[in-house]
Amino acid sequence: MLIAIPTESHPGESRVAASPDTVKAYVKKGLKVIVQAGAGAGSHTADDAYAAVGAKIVRSEADFKDAAIVLTVRRPSDKLVKALKKGAILAGGLDPYGDRKGLEALAKAGLVLFAMELMPRISRAQSMDILSSQANLAGYKAVIDAAAHFGRAFPMMMTAAGTVPPAKVFIMGVGVAGLQAIATARRLGAIVSATDVRKATEEQVKSLGAKFVFADVADAATAGGYAKELSAEDKAKQAALVAEHIKGQDIVITTALIPGRPAPVLVSKDMVETMKSGSVIVDLAVERGGNCPLSKSDQIVVHKGVSIIGTVNLAGRLAGNASPLYAKNLANFLEPLIQKDGSLKIDFDDEIIRGTLVARDGGLVHPMFKA
Ligand code: NAD
Repeated sequence: MLIAIPTESHPGESRVAASPDTVKAYVKKGLKVIVQAGAGAGSHTADDAYAAVGAKIVRSEADFKDAAIVLTVRRPSDKLVKALKKGAILAGGLDPYGDRKGLEALAKAGLVLFAMELMPRISRAQSMDILSSQANLAGYKAVIDAAAHFGRAFPMMMTAAGTVPPAKVFIMGVGVAGLQAIATARRLGAIVSATDVRKATEEQVKSLGAKFVFADVADAATAGGYAKELSAEDKAKQAALVAEHIKGQDIVITTALIPGRPAPVLVSKDMVETMKSGSVIVDLAVERGGNCPLSKSDQIVVHKGVSIIGTVNLAGRLAGNASPLYAKNLANFLEPLIQKDGSLKIDFDDEIIRGTLVARDGGLVHPMFKA
């Protein structure tokens, strides 16, 4: 059975869906692996590193025609899809809530599509969760970027010439990215506060030594571990609290997302205008519309002295870490599907398969996406 790893075609995507470690593990199971030349370049992994553990380096998409499994970071290019045989498995970050027509076209190509973003939040699937592995790095990088851009220091410093006050950092959305952002900002010596609409996050915030800021809203946690949209009344309560709190903050990192919905607007233009000149906002939700309406993809917008950083794919800026973790998530997902004799067996009744399978036999099959 042949596993194939293409070079990502999405502009600016630096990550790759296999690492030398995962290739080595596939080869050990008796599988053949092909890696497209240059696939690891953005993660500083040379073709030779894959070849050294048994992969064959191939030049073009046409070489993927016999692949039984294709692993990607993002949706595949049309050229790649055309080269694949019907029934081939394609697992990766397929952006299932984005560009519906593109998803339908992928399904029509007859591929068995697994969108790894839809991984159920159950303990058995934790090691397969690409959102977690990548969001953790993004949360860290957001704080590092904010610190690099901020014209002042994070920690308090007592010097003979006077005291440097600690920076005040506010984290909005305390999921995986938010928790790492809190921990990183604390390590840098900032005074950290955080908010979320899931009440369970209070304890997590406090255990990291940050202050929890919570509007008196109904708990928005869903059974799946995500948040749902607030009622109009609760949105107003949250906005009033944020407006009051944000005035005194130097750095705001926003990470709030609601699956399948545009990102909630949490920091309005008016709120930005109450912040001190020199303050920095990093909007991690920019790819999903942004938590701040002023943020723009891959731009730093300066509004009345406040910088709003909208870097997309922050995890990809740490590709040397992001790729191996992502690759391992995929390897953990494939592990139960690959039998001892190297053949493939998919249990279509399994919760993880049902949760992530988007298309098969030429059509969308996931309950959330089928027509
Ligand atoms: P996410 O990326 O969907 O959202 C980020 C955060 O934004 C969430 O905490 C959410 O509650 C918050 N949010 C949404 N609307 C908001 C609003 N209006 N104001 C403030 N905050 C808002 O979430 P995520 O980081 O992927 O994870 C959510 C939870 O799932 C976390 O508690 C995480 O620990 C848990 N999780 C569990 C597993 C597992 O058990 N396998 C795996 C990964 C994550």
